[in-house]
Amino acid sequence: MPLPIVPRRTMFVRAMRRRCPRCGGGNIFSSWFRMREECPTCGLHFVRGEDGYTLGALWFNLIAAEAVTTTTLLATAILTWPDVPWSVLQVTGPVEAVVMPLLFFPFSRTLFLAFDLWLRPEPAT
Ligand SMILES: [Zn+2]
Repeated sequence: MPLPIVPRRTMFVRAMRRRCPRCGGGNIFSSWFRMREECPTCGLHFVRGEDGYTLGALWFNLIAAEAVTTTTLLATAILTWPDVPWSVLQVTGPVEAVVMPLLFFPFSRTLFLAFDLWLRPEPAT
């Protein structure tokens, strides 16, 4: 289904809202960790062609989640210096490193899809 060209910013805003970057339609996840195969509104296939397509989303997830974790730890250390609560950071750091990728997972899928649509606007069906 041909749709008008969507501005890049609009695609990324839609992706941050867990919506289809191409049409803005919702309900594209059947659960927090499971994305539907295609958009229920515009029919866009979310796995666009080749094997290993979701690897890019996993990289997005890992980089963003660990960047947030590292930034939080560094900010805490800098803001509380020289009395850094090391015992608290020893617990919260690993917990955050595990929880953040889980929380960020659906956003990484939609953001990677927006990134891919930006670079490859034609669907490779
Ligand atoms: Zn759509």
